[in-house]
Formats: sequence, structure tokens, C-alpha cells
Amino acid sequence: MEKTFTIGDRSFVLDQSKAEEAFAAKQVINGRQTMTFNLLPLKYQWAYDLYGTMKANHWEPEDIPMQKDIEQWQSDELSDAERWIIRMGIGYFSAAEGIVGDNILHVVRELVTASELKLVLGRHAHEENIHADSLLYMISSLGINPHECEAMFEQIETIRRKNEFVTRTSHTLRRDLDMKDPDNIRLLAKNIFVFGQCMEGTQFYGLFGMILSLYRQNKFPGIGQMFRYTLRDESNHIELLRNLLMDLIGENKEIWTEDFKRELTNLMIEAVNLEKDFINDCLPVSSVGLNAEEFCQYIDFNADRRLEGVGLKALNPGVKNPFPWLSETMDLKKEANFFEQRVTEYQKSSALGMVDDDEL
Ligand code: FE
Ligand code: MN
Repeated sequence: MEKTFTIGDRSFVLDQSKAEEAFAAKQVINGRQTMTFNLLPLKYQWAYDLYGTMKANHWEPEDIPMQKDIEQWQSDELSDAERWIIRMGIGYFSAAEGIVGDNILHVVRELVTASELKLVLGRHAHEENIHADSLLYMISSLGINPHECEAMFEQIETIRRKNEFVTRTSHTLRRDLDMKDPDNIRLLAKNIFVFGQCMEGTQFYGLFGMILSLYRQNKFPGIGQMFRYTLRDESNHIELLRNLLMDLIGENKEIWTEDFKRELTNLMIEAVNLEKDFINDCLPVSSVGLNAEEFCQYIDFNADRRLEGVGLKALNPGVKNPFPWLSETMDLKKEANFFEQRVTEYQKSSALGMVDDDEL
């Protein structure tokens, strides 16, 4: 169907069917590649909606005062165990946020072809930058030696192994791959599953839970607040990568074999084991009202909802959430003017409102 626009003595002919063909060729991978980054018409509406939600949650580390945290850190009212949780939190996430952002930008965003998917993945990577920046802000506010933090990536064996688990699946995709080959599509699906469901969706929750438990005891209000924002962001990243995985499978059904489902489930088992070892390093003693056993159960609970979220079987059906209060603590909706004006202003400037915290 052609339409002619005549302006003065010049005519321009636009062919809608060509544009419709281009739209039909939009796909998660192997779709039409365009340098023009045409977003419209949207094929993956969820991606654009999620982009709006993420934008509405924008925050900056400097919005959050650290005075109280600094006073507590310098006082003698804290136990060594509590300081250690903070060090492990800052140490682990300093590496992890960068690893996620780098993988999203240089692996996932490179391989997907639809513009609205690239748009939301760009926002995802940017949020990882904000998270990395928030850790820098915590380290410098508390006066933690940055070399010590860096040393943790290599010298705390359980951190090193968690990082190796995810970077492994990132490296396998950093070369020229024929993305028509189902084995290579599976490599990408595996990457999206490992990062979204195993790492952000399960492994992150051990420390999130510990730091927010301290926050609940009025310890480290600034750090706790940043982790609440971070967790709200992560819940969107988990959803993003879950939707992306489901659409990738939907468009490439041949990859979704029983063998592949087993492979993904085994990766989750590996992730859970790595996380439980890590939790034991974070909580070598249970002196602060927190015990490793409950956090391990929390990991089992999270692993199962991630598995079920992508249509895989739970590992521990019926396992209970040991921390029902945690979703309360994370529910940012209930606070009217809850922290600083600026945060509220970012949210007001968006037409799309706030994130649905039910996921937490
Ligand atoms: Fe993050
Ligand atoms: Mn994330």
C-alpha cells in the first residue's frame, strides 16, 4: 500500500507494506538489523513498559545521607560479625554489579536485534553502573581501603567461585557465533538464565537479606536504603531477563529440549551450592540474630520461584520463605515521602508510576 505526500511541486511516496515487512522481521535474535534504532512499531511491548518502570525508579547514591552509617562504623557499638557482613556485601557487589553490566552490554545487548530490547537492556546496564557507583560511595564514605575490597574478589574463595560461575558463561559468547545454530542459541539462553535467574534472582538475595536484616535493626540506614533501591532495580532485571528468555525460547522452540531443561536446572543447583558456601563465609557466627541456616533456606525459596518463573520444576517444592518481613522492608510504596525529596521527584516526572513490589 503506497501513500503519496505532495508538498509544493514535490511528491514523496511511502510504502507501508515495506514497513510492515520490517516489523515482521523484528525478532529477539537474527531479526532485521538496523542502524536507525527504530523503536516503533513496538513488537515487545513488555520491554518498553519495563523501561518506563525502570526510569521511574531512578535514584542516585548521593541522594542518600551516610552520616549515621559513618558514625556507627566508627563507634564501638558494632560487632565484628556485623562489620564483616558489610565488608562482604560491599566486596561481593563491587565485582558483581560490574560483571552483570558488562555482560548485558557486551553480550546480551549485542546479540539481540529488536530495538526496544536494546533500549531496555541499555537501561539495565546503566542501572548496574548506578549500583557500582553506590558501592564506591559506600566505600569512600566509610573509609574502607579500596585495595582491600579489590583483594576480596580473588582471596575470598567463595566470592571468586561465584564470579567464575557467571563469567564462564559470558566468555563463551564473546566471539563470532552463528546464531542460527541451536547450540549457540542455547549458549545465549543459558547466559540469560544464569545472569537473570541464578545470579541476580537467587545469589544476590543472600546478602540482600543480611544487609536488610541489619537495616531492620536500625544499623546502617544509608547502606540499607541503597540496597533497598538496588533490590527494587534487581527485581526488574530479573523480570526483564525472564521475559527475554521466554521470548527467545518462544521464537526458537527447538532449543527447549529435556536435556537443556536439565542443564539449566543443574546450573541453578550449582548456583545455590555456591551461594550457601558464601553465606557461611558471611555469617561464620550467628551472633547478630542472623543465622546461616535461615539464609540458606531463603536461597532455596528464591531458587524455586526463579525456576518456576521460567517453566522449570522446583527443587524443594513447598519450601517456605523464612523472612516474610523482608518483603515489607522492601516495599517502597508504603512510604509517602520516604527519603529525600529528589527521589520522589524522579518518580513524579514519569508518566508510568512505580514498580510493582509484589515480586520482592
Ligand atoms: Fe545491580
Ligand atoms: Mn541487576
